[in-house]
Amino acid sequence: MENQRFCLECGEPLTGRRDKKFCGDQCRNNYNNRRYSESSVIIRKVNNILKKNYQILCELNPGGKTTIGRQKLIEKGYNFEYFTSQYITREGKTYHFVYDRGILNLENDLIMMVVKDTQKGKSG
Ligand SMILES: [Zn+2]
Repeated sequence: MENQRFCLECGEPLTGRRDKKFCGDQCRNNYNNRRYSESSVIIRKVNNILKKNYQILCELNPGGKTTIGRQKLIEKGYNFEYFTSQYITREGKTYHFVYDRGILNLENDLIMMVVKDTQKGKSG
């Protein structure tokens, strides 16, 4: 006995090919459009947070290396939960990066802001 499958969009029983997921093009389109728009809302939301974080780090760290009070970042609206990558040093310090801009928590609620050196061959 075959397992009866149902359209993922409208729930109608499906007939025909066993790998079918939808009863027709209309249902498939509706389903995919909705799924796409839901995921794009989440992506946009996270992208906006990352973009804002990045702008804050660029603004407060124009020289490439700056130490600042954590409160300053919070005042600007920095969201510490969002970053694109992290780097843990041998000493166990964790840098959180938003693209090429990173922060490191120091003692006394201070934050050190750095820029990842992605330019090869740069002297210094
Ligand atoms: Zn359907």
